[in-house]
Amino acid sequence: MPGLDPVARLPEHLLANARLLRRLATLVEEHSEELAQIESHNVGKPISGARGEVGMVAQVLHYYAGAVDKHFGETIPVGGGVDMTFREPLGIVGLITPWNFPINIASWKIGPALACGNTVVIKPAELTPLSTMRLGELALEAGIPEGVLNVVVGKGLVVGQRLIEHQHVAKIGFTGSTEVGQLVMQGASKTIKRVTLELGGKSANVIFADADLEKAAAAAPYAVFDNAGQDCCARSRILVERSAYDRFAELLIEATRNLKVGDPEDDATEMGPLISAQHRATVASFVESEPIFRGDAPDGKGFWYPATIVEARPDDRVAREEVFGPVVALIPFEDEADAIRIANDSEYGLSGSIWTLDGARAFRVARAIESGVLSINSNSSVRPSTPFGGFKRSGFGRELGMHALEGYSEIKNVFYSTD
Ligand code: NAD
Repeated sequence: MPGLDPVARLPEHLLANARLLRRLATLVEEHSEELAQIESHNVGKPISGARGEVGMVAQVLHYYAGAVDKHFGETIPVGGGVDMTFREPLGIVGLITPWNFPINIASWKIGPALACGNTVVIKPAELTPLSTMRLGELALEAGIPEGVLNVVVGKGLVVGQRLIEHQHVAKIGFTGSTEVGQLVMQGASKTIKRVTLELGGKSANVIFADADLEKAAAAAPYAVFDNAGQDCCARSRILVERSAYDRFAELLIEATRNLKVGDPEDDATEMGPLISAQHRATVASFVESEPIFRGDAPDGKGFWYPATIVEARPDDRVAREEVFGPVVALIPFEDEADAIRIANDSEYGLSGSIWTLDGARAFRVARAIESGVLSINSNSSVRPSTPFGGFKRSGFGRELGMHALEGYSEIKNVFYSTD
């Protein structure tokens, strides 16, 4: 950079890191259709959804390319000198990811891990390793040195366990079920590994009688049946104020009837099949009474399960446990306090929505619900720039936004005496 005083330059190692992440983001954009096809075939998810997810991967990598030189320490007033903090990389981080949004969730961890200067060993889920493997190849093509981003495939009990136990792995970034999350925490305790956990959910979609019911009902199917319900943020409990319950149920059934279920390769398809026969049997076991609505699903090849709406009480299994399939529990509530009580009556606390035209109530309820991510008059949960993660048994630590960088760096405090 001619003319620029050397001390005015950004440090070369940070520039190099940012450039490599930026190149990877650009390569993902250039290969977006290929990656979306891989993801759609591997998971069985509609191609339109897969395209959106790959688009987010590129944005996430661009975001963290920009974050490399914006995550830094502070100076703290102390007596007798100057106190300052530094953000140090952890070293080798082990990343373990699930099968429902494989490449998307991989990028949420790889982006901040590399931005902080760590090296990565990532183990994708057994059923869906292909898109992460391709991302590993693109990282090499981007110029990320061999050994910095390593993709290792295999069984959780073998490869995952090895990462958890390995003494040179400094941290496990895990997304998956709460049960396996418990094992990760247990295993990590032996070497005092850092752990962040993104686990299950049973999120509530809370609809007050004063909401725009048409809008809330039109959006609700996508908040639970997207990815065939195999979504940790699925609003799989819809709580509706009793005075609007019948009207909302009618509108919800109508909107769900319009959901386009079918061939994942068709651009118009909104819901595809489930991941496996075993998973379909688990999903089916949650429907214990006659649903108020059961949609259509193709016969034949594919682990199809129709979009299903059941009326439930807060104590029913379908209202308490994560179904991870296209089954939603519709539950009436009496008033604001009752809505908050039912929403919080869950061991999980990942996501959720509040629909009302009363702004003060929207904020009261948003503050009262024990959940990491809430939307008012919307069902969105994830953006590259905003923190995402759970309360309670949905895990701890945050992904996305600048907050994710906390989970991939160590704070070092240095005191310089001026005496
Ligand atoms: P899972 O817990 O069965 O597997 C997740 C990963 O852990 C896989 O890579 C698997 O191979 C590995 N694993 C399994 N057993 C292991 C062990 N003993 N030691 C180490 N690794 C092991 O989860 P899944 O079925 O792939 O995904 C579904 C779950 O993930 C759901 O509960 C869902 O809510 C959750 N999820 C959470 C988020 C979030 O961000 N909170 C996002 C997506 C999915």
